[in-house]
Amino acid sequence: MPFGLQPTHLIIILVVALLIFGPSRLPEIGKSIGKTMREFQAGLKEASQGFTEEIQKTPPQAEPPKLACKSCGKPIQAGMKFCPECGAAQ
Ligand SMILES: [Zn+2]
Repeated sequence: MPFGLQPTHLIIILVVALLIFGPSRLPEIGKSIGKTMREFQAGLKEASQGFTEEIQKTPPQAEPPKLACKSCGKPIQAGMKFCPECGAAQ
């Protein structure tokens, strides 16, 4: 349960509500709770959709620039001073 709310707490809240509002008003309270829950879930859905859109907007991880030998054009690793293929200085 979120917020550390346990089923026993809900029962206590229900009993307290019953004592405060009386049984005749319970359907009304139930309705308003249902409305609140629906609004809450709609808000959650909206938030998660926004989150998903945010992820989709993020460009894929940029790959490190590929280096090629200036002499023979073979791919070489960054930081290499000489081409392993032809030995040309980079
Ligand atoms: Zn080379």
